[in-house]
Amino acid sequence: MNYYTSQTNFYGDTKPEQLIEQFGSPLYVYNENILRSRCREMMSFIDYPNLSVHYSTKANSNLELLKIIRSEGLKADALSPGEIFVLLKAGFKPEDLLYVCNNVSEQEMRYAIEHGIMTSVDSISQLHTYGKINPGGKVAIRLNTGIGAGHHEKVVTGGKKTKFGINIDKIDKVKETLNLYKLKLVGLTQHIGSLFMEGEPYVEGVKALLEIAKGFNDLEFIDFGGGFGIPYRKQDGEKALALKLLGEKLSDIFKAFANTYNPNIKFIIEPGRYIVAECGVLLGSVHALKDNKGTQYVGTDIGFNVISRPILYDSYHEIEVYHSKKPCKDSFTKVTIVGNICESGDILAKDRQLPSMREGDIIAVMDAGAYGYALSSNYNNRLRPAEVLIKKDGQVVQIRKRDSFEDLIKNFLD
Ligand SMILES: *Cc1c(COP(=O)(O)O)cnc(C)c1O
Repeated sequence: MNYYTSQTNFYGDTKPEQLIEQFGSPLYVYNENILRSRCREMMSFIDYPNLSVHYSTKANSNLELLKIIRSEGLKADALSPGEIFVLLKAGFKPEDLLYVCNNVSEQEMRYAIEHGIMTSVDSISQLHTYGKINPGGKVAIRLNTGIGAGHHEKVVTGGKKTKFGINIDKIDKVKETLNLYKLKLVGLTQHIGSLFMEGEPYVEGVKALLEIAKGFNDLEFIDFGGGFGIPYRKQDGEKALALKLLGEKLSDIFKAFANTYNPNIKFIIEPGRYIVAECGVLLGSVHALKDNKGTQYVGTDIGFNVISRPILYDSYHEIEVYHSKKPCKDSFTKVTIVGNICESGDILAKDRQLPSMREGDIIAVMDAGAYGYALSSNYNNRLRPAEVLIKKDGQVVQIRKRDSFEDLIKNFLD
């Protein structure tokens, strides 16, 4: 098989079997070289001097990965006080962070303000909350220009049907509210949705937001959000997002706008998935095989508590198979790979033509770095897995411990 992990020398000096042996199964494995190269692509595909690339922390908030991302010159976005806390721990400076909040308490907003972090609010109601806490302060607002995109309705965050952003027909109300609290509007933000593979909707979103921006005089930054997709079906020949072409278009648009508005205006993009998805692989073990009325089930320890994208979004992840013993030659079977959670929806991959497996084999879930560990849970009182990093020099280090049984009871009072 022409595996992604062989092409990229993903496991460095180690092998999947060794990793499982040493750190247990299931296991999230990250590759530093791939992470760094994705950071560099995002840092360089737009040619505009005052561009900031803000990593969207929710995709993966492992402290060690955040430190690497920071070392590549990225800034970051937080969506909660918890994310702010972790980003500061990872060494980000308050001025490098943007808090993009949605329906938060006064207390949460105060946390960001007290830490000196620029905040973008996403309703008139929250603008009032902000104005009361921080009258006379600087603020940003998240707008919905009516353009949305994404791979699943649950992740389309712009357009007619979404809870996000202030609709642009409310701009007058925004201005009124700003005046009421003497707030200075310094930023506009938007995020149209997650996982687009064609740049066009993003470009449309950029143009729409810039049209609105012309109506405000003192903007210091405009943030266009993330959503940059990655090809989850590489084995089928799916192509990567045409970043170069998108970058050329955005560079032209940015320069033209800056020329007429303010040559120092800062533009921000907020990639999450693009940065971390492909540097992560999830390893698991095959424990059982069964034929149920013609469906060949492969039973593994990768339940939806470990990776929930397949059940949340019907997401497709490619699977690699590593045999523990020498496999029967050229033997493929159509299988459905399932986990160990007590729900019939616990399906990782349906009807896949894969090398025939036996108990003890190892499988790897590709492109698991984004929204993988981040969405994992202790459902069924299962332990969230450990995470390891294959460093630049090929060495492996553990970057998060597996949960322990004690973790399952640590928040109960005696
Ligand atoms: C989730 C999110 C992003 C990142 O989305 P990706 O699809 O992972 O790039 C960016 N901005 C905001 C506000 C988000 O909520």
